Amino acid sequence: MTGLIRSIDPLSKLLRGIEADRWFLYGTFYTLAVLIMGVRALLKYRHSPYQIIRTLSVMFFQLVLAYLIPYFLILFNQPEFYLSYFWPLKYDYLFPGTVDYLIKSPGALGVFFVFWTAVISLVGVPVLTYFFGKRWYCSWVCGCGGLAETAGDPYRHLSDKSRKAWQWEVAIIYPILGFIVLTTVLLWVNAITGGGILGGLSNGFSQAYGFFIGSIFSGVIGVGFYPIMGSRVWCRFGCPMAAYLGILQKHFSRFRITTNGGQCISCGNCSNYCEMGIDVRWYAQQGQPIIRSSCVGCGMCATVCPRGVLNLENGPLPGRYQPSAFISPENVRILS
Ligand code: SF4
Ligand code: SF4
Repeated sequence: MTGLIRSIDPLSKLLRGIEADRWFLYGTFYTLAVLIMGVRALLKYRHSPYQIIRTLSVMFFQLVLAYLIPYFLILFNQPEFYLSYFWPLKYDYLFPGTVDYLIKSPGALGVFFVFWTAVISLVGVPVLTYFFGKRWYCSWVCGCGGLAETAGDPYRHLSDKSRKAWQWEVAIIYPILGFIVLTTVLLWVNAITGGGILGGLSNGFSQAYGFFIGSIFSGVIGVGFYPIMGSRVWCRFGCPMAAYLGILQKHFSRFRITTNGGQCISCGNCSNYCEMGIDVRWYAQQGQPIIRSSCVGCGMCATVCPRGVLNLENGPLPGRYQPSAFISPENVRILS
């Protein structure tokens, strides 16, 4: 390991002005995985403009906003900051300790970062999710989603489609979101009251979350379990951002996947390719729109459908749950 870290010292010095460490090694491998497997995804789905643009988007956000810019910031003695990650995924960005550190850092950039993370997390996320659904972040921007869509693509069909898996999903992901919201509120009350609530415990509180959820769950299980549980283990069962976006998508969004049941031949490609374990075929057979909090809008179900049954749309809120006008194969034959 040490030899490997030393071998990328020249790159680290070029980008950050300091020697490499294990986190730089991890970030470099992560970014390389997104880029190399991104090229593979581009070739594999080259017939779909949606998949091409989406894949280029995750490659860009990972390389520029989650790799080059944070390291250049270190080079110029600025705080290392990831512009493409927001609270509650990057939970500590709205913790009082981080806000204080950023505001006190030299220059005005730290203040801008606090403004950026607060505005996007609390205003930008609801507004963008209202117009585009969860996909604007989970399938176009986020580095975790980026790795899942590129390096994780060969494993997407392994996601469990059972009802039991969905029950586990709901039972784990929302308590994690609740925990991070509660932690953030408690830390702020604690900071304002001068340690009156948690006293010295506040650090331990956030460190415990950081270790068990941030490192073990998102890093080790989230990526290491691709070959066992599919490519979106973390997004499906653990990510507080996915839970936050999912609530908004389900109740306050124009996004839906419309289905034309009359054209469905029940081949099951869509369900098979759904990395979030949604039984897309069931909706297609009924002609019902898919409005699920877990859907990340990757569009793969629509891409692999041989009959063009599925369509990702942003439409008006009223009538969102209405089934599509039923067009049977027989009618199409008559019309043509
Ligand atoms: S891939 Fe298309 S045709 Fe096949 S089951 Fe799904 S919606 Fe029906
Ligand atoms: S339902 Fe379709 S768009 Fe949504 S996560 Fe599954 S494959 Fe992706």
